[in-house]
Amino acid sequence: MDLFQAPDYFKLDELLSEEHKLVRNATREWVKKEVSPIIEDACQKAEFPKHLIKGLAEVGAFGPYIPLNYGGAELDQISYGLIMQELERGDSGIRSTASVQSSLVMYPIWKYGSEQQKKKYLPKLATGEFIGCFGLTEPDFGSNPGGMVTNIKDEGDFFLLNGAKMWISNSPFADIAIVWAKNEEGRIKGLIVERGMEGFSTPETHGKWSLRASSTGELVFDNVKVPKENILPNKDGLGAPLGCLDSARYGIAWGAIGAAMDCYDTALRYSKERIQFGKPIASLQLQQKKLAEMITEITKAQFITWRLGVLKNEDRATTAQISMCKRNNVEMALKITREARQILGGMGITGEYPIMRHMMNLESVITYEGTHDIHLLITGLDITGQNAFK
Ligand SMILES: Cc1cc2nc3c(=O)[nH]c(=O)nc-3n(C[C@H](O)[C@H](O)[C@H](O)COP(=O)(O)OP(=O)(O)OC[C@H]3O[C@@H](n4cnc5c(N)ncnc54)[C@H](O)[C@@H]3O)c2cc1C
Repeated sequence: MDLFQAPDYFKLDELLSEEHKLVRNATREWVKKEVSPIIEDACQKAEFPKHLIKGLAEVGAFGPYIPLNYGGAELDQISYGLIMQELERGDSGIRSTASVQSSLVMYPIWKYGSEQQKKKYLPKLATGEFIGCFGLTEPDFGSNPGGMVTNIKDEGDFFLLNGAKMWISNSPFADIAIVWAKNEEGRIKGLIVERGMEGFSTPETHGKWSLRASSTGELVFDNVKVPKENILPNKDGLGAPLGCLDSARYGIAWGAIGAAMDCYDTALRYSKERIQFGKPIASLQLQQKKLAEMITEITKAQFITWRLGVLKNEDRATTAQISMCKRNNVEMALKITREARQILGGMGITGEYPIMRHMMNLESVITYEGTHDIHLLITGLDITGQNAFK
């Protein structure tokens, strides 16, 4: 049974609106009812639980901030963040599916797409009838996506797409892919590639020890004829995919807090119940140090992230602020998983408790959407004006 109780040490709830709390609580209840009972098994089997797609759509996890007329929930950025927090409290893989769908597929169609594209795809993505994926990373270009070699050639009636992407969340079962490719002038363009187009395949990546409940794969393009109406017309260049990543990284910053909360809450409860040397281990100073530091770090993360949400609602959040918050929160969460696991002793490594699963998941979260190093370099560049990437 999922006994989760969310820590709120500095009464952050008092800064949330009624709508924020309503959205957060609805997602929390849905995660308790639908995700917690099945997630351990899905991870052990390394399967994405596809039956959750409908429920994810119903809690507004697909396009929370997309306008109502395109099928979105038209919520603000704090509600979006709170949904991501609650989903990742359940599992980072479930949050990843929602992040990709919202910020890496719906966002670019909404921001850079034509009216026809928005009407065609957004409502179906919002209901989960369509699932999307986002193809930026290539085998030889991860942290340096600008070097990509996937390319399009103008063939008059259509674009001919060639190349390959790897590490693509949801690719094995996605209906559409937002693909970033260079045109003949070397300019990065976004395209909507549909499953079923000739020459397009999506082999699954096996053997992951992390994000096991999320399906990951490649995107392979062998002379794929992409209709011209499938190009995203309103933004190109590296800034276009990076704009999507800003939105997704913001959601990850919230999500990581969810994973940290779940580990803290589990460890706190366990420490009160576990008796060694005739008393609860919660009464031992060494264990209290761990728990006290965890709640301190969670509280700090909650507040910078809430503030980032306020800035984002006002359209004032910078890429560098988002990087700092993603980097801080994922590292914070990963450290908490390691401390919490120790509090549970041997039980900490089992699937009886969520801690080891969160820990393994966060090893992907600290690397994807910009590695821990890359986010530090973004902060470094922002504060010094000096580019240390190369
Ligand atoms: C489970 C999972 C899901 C993913 N989902 C997606 C997805 O849906 N779509 C997508 O496009 N991508 C996705 N990714 C890819 C992810 O974004 C990349 O793995 C990430 O950007 C890092 O690229 P890389 O793995 O090639 O590492 P590399 O770029 O090769 O980095 C290797 C190491 O070198 C360091 N490094 C690189 N450059 C520098 C530098 N300039 N200075 C100092 N250190 C540096 C890095 O920090 C890292 O430690 C996913 C990855 C994983 C693991």
